[in-house]
Amino acid sequence: MNIHEYQAKAILRDYGCPVSDGRAVTKAEEAKTAAGELDGPLWVVKAQIHAGGRGKGSFKEADAGEKGGVRLTKSVEEAAEEAKKMLGRTLVTHQTGPAGKQVNRIYIEDGSDIESEFYLALLVDRVTSQISFVCSTEGGMDIEEVAASTPEKILSFSVDPAAGYQPYHGRRVAFMLGLEGKQVKACVDLMGKLYKAFVEKDMEMLEINPLILMPDGNLKCLDAKVGFDGNALYRHADILALRDETEEDPKELAASKYDLNYIALDGEIGCMVNGAGLAMATMDIIKLYGAEPANFLDVGGGATKEKVTEAFKIITSDDNVKGILVNIFGGIMRCDVIAEGVVAAVKEVGLQVPLVVRLEGTNVEKGKEIINTSGLNVIAADDLSDGAEKIVKAVKG
Ligand code: ADP
Ligand code: MG
Repeated sequence: MNIHEYQAKAILRDYGCPVSDGRAVTKAEEAKTAAGELDGPLWVVKAQIHAGGRGKGSFKEADAGEKGGVRLTKSVEEAAEEAKKMLGRTLVTHQTGPAGKQVNRIYIEDGSDIESEFYLALLVDRVTSQISFVCSTEGGMDIEEVAASTPEKILSFSVDPAAGYQPYHGRRVAFMLGLEGKQVKACVDLMGKLYKAFVEKDMEMLEINPLILMPDGNLKCLDAKVGFDGNALYRHADILALRDETEEDPKELAASKYDLNYIALDGEIGCMVNGAGLAMATMDIIKLYGAEPANFLDVGGGATKEKVTEAFKIITSDDNVKGILVNIFGGIMRCDVIAEGVVAAVKEVGLQVPLVVRLEGTNVEKGKEIINTSGLNVIAADDLSDGAEKIVKAVKG
């Protein structure tokens, strides 16, 4: 689960990390009062969407102004004016995809003097199963670009969870960033606080880009992007309350309500599969036959008819879907339950695109019978490659 920058900064503030004072607003009328509560002389107006690259992004609408989603202003009036221009408009960044994201919230923040911008992130390294620090002197820009062109400018190391965070970890970061004197101590302190927040709040990712050094020698977290481990949210009611459902893909949101593992993709073949491994293999083989999957969907092992029905409805609600491949290898999942779900969903929402069904495993005969006697226009398939070939042929001709 992701949260907004202003929410992430509130958490960091609670942990004693240096962040700027700021106010979040959802209405243009509130902007002037909010900006007036800040000291100035620089007010930074920042679009709050669940995507990075806002500064270099651009708005779809002409009346949102020429600038991106992070604007420096020199007066309360100007800050309110820029907030008004951005609210309700669609911001496109390299992380939003071409459709962009609607800006429903603006964060107005005290501007900082910047001496240098650094990159810093904490994340879970799945290779070592430890929390890793990643830092670079090349902050404020695209870290993927830095990793590709000048990987020597990135330092990454992981922290042994048994020993936990130690001052030498912070010193490694400080020396990589070229800090000196009291800045090193401040860095050691800040890294410790970030690590503590990361562990205690079950974060998955914590990215500060940029972490800045100011002319007075102090450090500050100027941007904050935080993602939480969805499996741990049950023990963080305070974090769950920060969820902004308007930022989520409506199909993924519906899927999460039914506990389905669903990720929307850009292709044309909708897939309904049980098991993450089989879902991956199904996506691969669709590609092999020359088409692209419209989603990843694992209905899980013990799915009910209702869950399967919902999954099918989510797939058919996607306008990009030109054909559907149901690929089930029933072990714990029973083929008849899948068949009942598919039939129920089609009865409810209809079927406008070709449907290929491949069933194998527990109760397969019963499942096939349900499909065959349902009157649905289904193309039956014998195995995985047969199914993929048939659906791609049905869609592409
Ligand atoms: P994004 O990463 O989405 O583009 P950032 O919060 O990193 O958004 O802002 C982009 C750039 O804007 C930063 O690299 C920094 O140069 C500038 N900036 C952001 N917040 C402030 C601030 N409070 N004071 C001064 N400059 C800022
Ligand atoms: Mg940033």
